[in-house]
Amino acid sequence: MTAFSLGSLLYEGKAKRVFATDQPDRVAVEFKDDATAFNAQKRASLAGKGACNCLISALIFEVLERRGIATHYLGLAEERWMVVRPVQVVPLEVVVRNIAAGSLCRQLPITEGTALEPPLLDLYYKDDGLGDPFLSEARLERLGVVNPDQRQAIGEMALAVNLGLRDLFGSVDLELVDFKIELGFASDGSLLLADEISPDTCRLWDRRQSDSSDRILDKDRFRQDLGGVMEAYGEVLKRVQGVCPEPRVYG
Ligand code: UDP
Repeated sequence: MTAFSLGSLLYEGKAKRVFATDQPDRVAVEFKDDATAFNAQKRASLAGKGACNCLISALIFEVLERRGIATHYLGLAEERWMVVRPVQVVPLEVVVRNIAAGSLCRQLPITEGTALEPPLLDLYYKDDGLGDPFLSEARLERLGVVNPDQRQAIGEMALAVNLGLRDLFGSVDLELVDFKIELGFASDGSLLLADEISPDTCRLWDRRQSDSSDRILDKDRFRQDLGGVMEAYGEVLKRVQGVCPEPRVYG
């Protein structure tokens, strides 16, 4: 590792590890090749996934930053690693849906592929043990993990991210079906977009393919055993790289 040295492991999740560094207010995130689905009941290791998702996330964070969205991202380190600002993660999974798919169609009589205009904003309580339950606004208020102003700011940021991602992906013929983001509070209290944005956390359909399986370029290929997972992720990376400048290197 160049511009900093690695400290202790702070947190290990399903797809990433977070380490302290020798610099205050800087942590290093390692993107793993591990793939999980259905609350980690399905597992695999996909060679190259960590590097691919790290690069896609870096490029996307930089696109969003240029649009005025505050993120935790500071720069890339070596392959599979980025440097970010530490945040107190808000225990919410914030999902924006532009087109009906996934759990929405399993839980409600809405046909996959139905356009959702305006987009749906769905909040889930981030707790694997509880299976990340859906939150009504009343339950969110009862839970008290965010106050009404923070709830408002989270919603506004999620919709701003949606506009940024739709512009980016749309410019390279990728339909942004839905995505999940996580947010956190930095030490100065500011709300930052955190975690990652990648084919692990977005549904992306290829507008250049009409076949309903062939068009899938995201983690649904893994969830549904469609094969070609890394080819799909690589295609997303290639297209995004085609319209973005080289990502910055930290330090
Ligand atoms: N998602 C995610 N992590 C989760 C749950 C969902 O990144 O723990 C993403 C998922 O990839 C999709 C969006 O959030 O892009 C909406 O997922 P959905 O609620 O439809 O759940 P799923 O069908 O994936 O179980």
